[in-house]
Parts: sequence; structure tokens; C-alpha cells
Amino acid sequence: MSDQLLKFMLGDGHVRGALVRLESTWAALQQRRSYPAAITPLVGQMAAASTLLAGSLKFDGSLILQIHGDGPLQLAVAECQPDFGVRATAKIAGDGTAQVPAHADLAALVNAHGKGRCAITLDPRNPDAGHQPYQGIVALNDAHGQALPTLSAVLEQYLAQSEQIESMLLLASDARSVGGLLLQRMPGVLAGRDSPEEDFSRARHLASTLTDAELLGLAPEEVLRRLFWEEDVRIFAPHTPRFHCTCSRERVAGMLRMLGREEVDSILREQGEVDVRCEFCGQGYAFDAVDAAQVFLLPIVQPPVSPGSH
Ligand SMILES: [Zn+2]
Repeated sequence: MSDQLLKFMLGDGHVRGALVRLESTWAALQQRRSYPAAITPLVGQMAAASTLLAGSLKFDGSLILQIHGDGPLQLAVAECQPDFGVRATAKIAGDGTAQVPAHADLAALVNAHGKGRCAITLDPRNPDAGHQPYQGIVALNDAHGQALPTLSAVLEQYLAQSEQIESMLLLASDARSVGGLLLQRMPGVLAGRDSPEEDFSRARHLASTLTDAELLGLAPEEVLRRLFWEEDVRIFAPHTPRFHCTCSRERVAGMLRMLGREEVDSILREQGEVDVRCEFCGQGYAFDAVDAAQVFLLPIVQPPVSPGSH
């Protein structure tokens, strides 16, 4: 079965939702990087969650989901592009040296001191078209200061606080697949027989009967049949998420320009070349002295912009 993101609506449209199941995307992510046992499921769930969130927003750009941790996991990132190309990675604290207990839960991994944060960034594909980057940040604690136990709980709180959308999110992962279900109460009151509250709480109740094994093992349409067979379900054309890393030699060159000539020259003197490895896909990009000189020449050799050309 191919990877799939399936959006749907229930009843009078008070409840919308999406299901995602990733297999080949998940295999590709695990092939490129390996993580300690406690971190692997989180990376998979981040990838599934970023796909669900990207699918739920009307936004032309990439969605970047980040968890900044204060425990052994320093950072976990998943990015979903408008065409549902997905990449994800995680960074262990202490430059990869921190010990990660095998059965650490989310709080132990990223919120050991209550200072962990979750950020969602919307990065417009075409910033000139008037779209601005947007970032929302939430803590990993609930309203009473208690550490939230799961990524689902963190993102439900994010959606409630940042988007004012009551949501239910289920995420599951094993070695073979990751799966997710997002249910959202549509804002505003639409005309209809039932109240939106009733529709949402019934949908939530039905969804709560879904097991991890079903979320991981059934195709999205089968999950919908299993949960909502008595409901009026409308499904939209499915999307196909896939692993895709947006790294490129040009982007690395841009990063070196930001780093500055002096810093790059000092690395060249010490190591003979600048070797940059993509943290998402493991692709290496090497720049020797000649390449580096070109990187810093580039802005000068570009033709000057003639007046009135834009
Ligand atoms: Zn890459």
C-alpha cells in the first residue's frame, strides 16, 4: 500500500479530519538516519503530524514542526512541503553524546526541566506574494504546569491555543509504519440539525475506540469505514506523501556565505575542505578552496540589476 493522506468531512461539516499512513516515507527516513530506541517513534510521529497539519491548513509553503528539548533530545524537526514531500531529523544533546534511556517518555526526552518548547513555522513558498512567515510556540506543559505525556497532547494544546481549534489527534508508530488521525471542530456555527459540539463529541468518542494496531495496519479508507460507518462521511482526493529532502549544494553555499569568509577560510586552513553533511538525509557537500572562493565571488559576478527591471 502506498503512503496516503486522506482528508474527510463528517455530517453537516461541523467536523473535519485527516488520516495519514506512512510506510515507504518512514522506511526512507529510517534508512538515512538511525536514532536511539526512545527517539525513533517520536521522529516518525513528528513526520506524520507535520503531514496532517500541513494538510489541514490552507497555506502555500512548507510547514516546519520543531520540538526544542531541555533533556537528552535537543531538537526534533519534521518538515512538510506543499506537495507533501516530508523530511525529519532529531539531534541528541551534547553533540550527540547525551545518554538516552531506552524507555524515556516525551517529558523525560525533551521536557526534563519544564523548559521544552514546541514551535510550528509556516514558511511561504513565495514570500514576495505577500505571504509572511508565521511561527507559533507553545510550552510542553499543560495549564497546571504538568508535563504533557505525548506529542499528540502537545499538538492538541497547540491547536487549541494558537489556532483556537478544538482538535483530537492520535499518533502511532512501529518499525514498519506510522499513522495519524486528526479530528477538528470546524469554527463557526453552521445551520444544521445537530449542534457542532454534539457532532464533534460523537466523532471524538468514535475515534477513541481506534487502536494503535488499526491506525498502523489499516488503510485510511478502512479506518474511516471502521470508525464512522454510521456517519455521513465525505472524502476528498487523497494525497501521496513521500520522503523528500530539500537540501542542495546551492543552499549549503548560501549557508557558507552567512557563516562569512573568515570563518570558512579558517576551516579550510585547518581541514583542507569544508565538509557539510545534511542532518536530514545524510548527503555530504564538500567545498575545497576553489569551490569556497566561488561561493564568495558569486554575488560579485552576478550581472547588476538594471533600473526598472522589477
Ligand atoms: Zn538533505
